[in-house]
Amino acid sequence: MGKLFGTSGVRGVLWKQITPGLMMDLGLVFATHLGNSGTVVVGRDPRVSSVMLEDSFISGLLSGGCRVRQVGTVPTPVVGFAVRRLRAVAGVMVTASHNPPQYNGIKLFDSDGMAYTPELETKIEEAYFEKRMERVRWDRIGKVEKANILSSYVDEAAARVRLKRRYKIVVDCGNGSGSLVTPFLFRKLGCEVKTLNAHPDGTFPGRGLEPSAENLEGLCKAVKTVGADLGIAHDGDADRVAAVDDLGRVVQPDKLLALVAAGQLAENRKTVVTTVDSSMVVDEVVAEHGGKVVRTPVGDVHVAAAVKQHDSAFGGEPSGAWIFPDFHLAPDGPFGSIKILELMDSTGKKLSELLDGLPNYQTAREKIPCPNSKKIQVMEKVGLRSKEISDVLSVSHVDGTRLEFNDGWVLVRPSGTEPYIRVTAESKSSERASDLLRMMVKILGDILHTPR
Ligand code: MG
Repeated sequence: MGKLFGTSGVRGVLWKQITPGLMMDLGLVFATHLGNSGTVVVGRDPRVSSVMLEDSFISGLLSGGCRVRQVGTVPTPVVGFAVRRLRAVAGVMVTASHNPPQYNGIKLFDSDGMAYTPELETKIEEAYFEKRMERVRWDRIGKVEKANILSSYVDEAAARVRLKRRYKIVVDCGNGSGSLVTPFLFRKLGCEVKTLNAHPDGTFPGRGLEPSAENLEGLCKAVKTVGADLGIAHDGDADRVAAVDDLGRVVQPDKLLALVAAGQLAENRKTVVTTVDSSMVVDEVVAEHGGKVVRTPVGDVHVAAAVKQHDSAFGGEPSGAWIFPDFHLAPDGPFGSIKILELMDSTGKKLSELLDGLPNYQTAREKIPCPNSKKIQVMEKVGLRSKEISDVLSVSHVDGTRLEFNDGWVLVRPSGTEPYIRVTAESKSSERASDLLRMMVKILGDILHTPR
């Protein structure tokens, strides 16, 4: 059986893996999976190919008897929001997130507005390869209705945050769909907003779409030049957020995650969810605020499922994909960005002051070549060898193998997409972090019979 879904929906290069024909078939498969009835919310990012692919997917849905509420160009979290708001049975977003402009794909959402789990994706995949596609009679073909959801999204998001002061914000949307929401959201909260790359353009001329330090030099400069309190950046579909502080520094994602997570803890909600690869700074800061951290495999779908299961206050990945379950269950970049401002406002501190109060951890990383066919066998051996290491406090197999020591941790995790095994180690001292890394790299070398 072939594979369609990766770590975040179906994604690939246009005309190679992704074609209008595939989209139409997937639309019909999805309609069949939904019982050939019900309303499906459909949104898209501003990629050049998105309208074409969206129209094909919609044709499939209609031919399978589903009704469509078309929300147009929106951030991915708006589809999650709209599914609940419009009482739809499912949602579809046509996007390739942070990938280069020639990529595209789809992400599916359930009736709760939560991304499809790998189990549900496997069901769709099986149905596609087994050609389970049921067309409806001519008089049962679905209808398309346009829905303007952006203004109610902005209103509802803004109503959840109250500010005592006025702030100056610079927003860099990378020409993605965040352009249509985040600047307006901050203005609605009374902020003075300056924008960079804030018109949707599917060729993404402004900067690389990943909101990482190397792509945010322009934002750092702009924050310093205008003397802003905060700089905000998104990836192409704005399900992620990154920040630049008032000194013009890109904020370490794990530290920001720790601050925001701790800020969401409530009397009746004492857990937050994060992935196995995020820093101990999250545990430390959340524990200081009386909370507990639940760790899941890497991927926002796993985080969302655990947030739901544990009735957690918050869930987030170091990539900047953050879930606020009181609002909805999809990672939400625009909402995350106003929650950072809320934290500054409620504490009366600058972002740089909030960050400088946090503990510093050092990370060491290496990727070891390993053929995909050998990964399972190698990871089994890593599990066995881990038992022989002294001073290990606990071993977790949530995703790969993660060994916890009293002064750090090391994670061994096979890459989901590339022929590598990734090793990450962390400790407060950089020597200890590299010691932990070296120890694990040596074990992998022994197992793979390569001298290190
Ligand atoms: Mg994204």
